[in-house]
Amino acid sequence: MLEILPQIPRYVAMRRGIGPKILPLNLVFAVTYRCNSRCKSCNIWMYTKKSYAPPPGQEWPYDASQLEQRPELTLDEFRRIFDSLGHAPFYLTFTGGEPFLRDDLEEIVVAAYERCQPKVITIPTSAMYWKTTPQRVHAIARACRDADVILNISMDGIGEEHDRIRGVPHNYELALKTLERLKQNKPENLVIGLHTVVSSLNVHHATEIVDHLESLGPDSVITEVAEERLEMGNRNSGITPDPETYSRVAAELSRKVSKRPARGFARITRAFRTEYYQLAAKALREGKQALPCYAGVASGHVAPDGDVWACCVRAEPIGNVRAVDYDFGRVWRGYLADKMRKSIAAGECACPMANAFYTTMLMDPKTLAKVALRAAIG
Ligand code: SF4
Repeated sequence: MLEILPQIPRYVAMRRGIGPKILPLNLVFAVTYRCNSRCKSCNIWMYTKKSYAPPPGQEWPYDASQLEQRPELTLDEFRRIFDSLGHAPFYLTFTGGEPFLRDDLEEIVVAAYERCQPKVITIPTSAMYWKTTPQRVHAIARACRDADVILNISMDGIGEEHDRIRGVPHNYELALKTLERLKQNKPENLVIGLHTVVSSLNVHHATEIVDHLESLGPDSVITEVAEERLEMGNRNSGITPDPETYSRVAAELSRKVSKRPARGFARITRAFRTEYYQLAAKALREGKQALPCYAGVASGHVAPDGDVWACCVRAEPIGNVRAVDYDFGRVWRGYLADKMRKSIAAGECACPMANAFYTTMLMDPKTLAKVALRAAIG
């Protein structure tokens, strides 16, 4: 992580429009919109249904009539994008939909590892494929041995509550089976995380869920706030918890996290997490950026069809890698990317989205100092 520090002034200058446009250190690749979940908090699974109409009163980032003409990026296309990125990304995420619905997920992740040498690779999953996912994850971790490979299993409730929120019977039971298999012969660089989206559906007992998940013995338990994202087709769905209730939950989560024993690098991640919960609550309460957001500068998102976004909350394309011969930098340095950066810097949006937020926290000297202090005093 120390290797990121010299980069920070360059990103700060870029956000101010006074430095060269460098590539992001944190990139999310959504490898598919196909999904085996039917979550109440997300409508991505509907993209692949025959009828593309968004739910009433909501919108999707794509013109529905075009979606069929926008196939997922192939493995070869991914390879070309990764070639263009070089060693810029420190942190890569491969998400969906359900990423394990791609038969070539292992090849995609390993291609990224070989070309970009990221230090952290995260893959979220519903973990319902208990027979195949553990061996696929172990194979990825073994092939990416110099990176921390974090598998985050979605767990939004306890038992049947989880199944109700995720819209699939027995999801909880299947996820537990996957968890147990993942723990057997676990490669050293594999981190098994349990990940809860705190929404209006479960906020009333979010801390109880977290306590329960801790008791299942994963390497980490993390939460983030449910957001209304254009990408998810869930705007105006009321899924985001009300700011006051979430603030109380965030204070409790921060307190719990800060008391969790940790050593070495885990102390730093714990300090970041403690800080994140507080800042996410602030963003919700105030409805403005709790810190100047670095999405579009230090972090970005690539959709399954190659569209590039600053973030998945706004989901506004700043270009498509297919139109520029898979040279990501050409999109990142383009006119639309500049326009998006100006809009974000002007505070025209705000959200508590965890992925972009952690990068943003790195760029803020005060937050960085607080995190360093927290990590140092334990
Ligand atoms: S504040 Fe949120 S919506 Fe706005 S650019 Fe940052 S991550 Fe995206």
